[in-house]
Amino acid sequence: MAALKKIAAIPGDGIGQEVIPQALKVVQATGAAIEFTQFDWGADRFLADSTTVPTDGFTMLARDFEAILVGAFGDPRIASNIHAKEILLGMRTKMDLFANVRPVRLMDESLCPLKSVKPEDLDFTVIRENTEGVYGDSGGVFKLGTPDEVAIQEDINTRKGVERIIRYAFEYCSNSKKMNGSPRRRVLMCDKSNAMTHAGGLWQRTFKDVARDFPKIETQHMYVDALCMQMVRDPRNFDVIVTNNMFGDIITDLAAGLQGGLGVAASGNLRPRHTSMFEPVHGSAPPIAGKNVANPLGAILTAAMMLAHLGLDQPARKIESAVLAAVREKKTTADIGGTLGTEQAGEWIASKVSTSKDLDY
Ligand code: ATP
Repeated sequence: MAALKKIAAIPGDGIGQEVIPQALKVVQATGAAIEFTQFDWGADRFLADSTTVPTDGFTMLARDFEAILVGAFGDPRIASNIHAKEILLGMRTKMDLFANVRPVRLMDESLCPLKSVKPEDLDFTVIRENTEGVYGDSGGVFKLGTPDEVAIQEDINTRKGVERIIRYAFEYCSNSKKMNGSPRRRVLMCDKSNAMTHAGGLWQRTFKDVARDFPKIETQHMYVDALCMQMVRDPRNFDVIVTNNMFGDIITDLAAGLQGGLGVAASGNLRPRHTSMFEPVHGSAPPIAGKNVANPLGAILTAAMMLAHLGLDQPARKIESAVLAAVREKKTTADIGGTLGTEQAGEWIASKVSTSKDLDY
């Protein structure tokens, strides 16, 4: 019998509390040897006892769990968003989860807002640097609140950080396949090196250096503005895209739009050979929280991604097939054309998973 894999589940805030239970239910329906332990980190806990992350929380996660499944953080009652920053950004930086991996796949033609884009046309992955760049909170303000105020937000790019994310993208391209089974062939590096010359220069040089170690993989470069336009005009030819923290944040929301919206997008925050964290791309979505309308597919596909990362390919594929069936049969929430609630959509997929035979996959 397979060894039990221990997973920490942190639903967090808002719709995170609704979609993560659906993901857990679906994983359990696969019969995979997984044990979930739930944690209450999030806004309610912070408001109750001022705890964002308990003492040694990150050390405990890295020591006791093989992966972490997270919902979302953010709550209108906490204007500073301090708990979200400390938990989510803390996890990414303190556990050094440097590779943010976001698959962009179209499950059904009806989900794409562009004309005539078919599922086989849209199957690429964005690899976003997750620990540096302008989100590192480096900088400051001078003469705050005066007409002479100066705000500086620094963009940190280290050779080590840039090299490891680019190398990760080439390794990902070498080792992963498209949904139709064909190999991946090309890594595209996206920057703004014509305007941001210092950081861009480092990315350009490092990309060329690392590419020499992967002679079979094609390389391509695009400025981020041109990439955004191309994604909307014709997203067919993308394969693996590697970029920095901020550009990755922006283009993955654009890419989520192409695949059916924030409700269906999955992501992983990875550090090879260490405990990694998986989260749906959407946030806590306060306007729709608590109404049983949030789409649970992003969280469910995120859980499948986590299982695949842990080497549990068969249960991961079962979940992906059941999600595909739900989309095709419109057994989904209203944001992608169905009539079910969050819980009912999760229930439908869990039941599809539990009745599917291994041979079907
Ligand atoms: P964050 O900054 O935390 O990423 P955000 O404000 O950018 O969050 P979300 O909280 O993800 O964005 O949501 C924005 C809007 O997108 C929501 O108000 C909702 O309308 C829609 N949305 C997001 N996630 C879902 C979902 N799972 N199902 C349905 N709609 C969703």
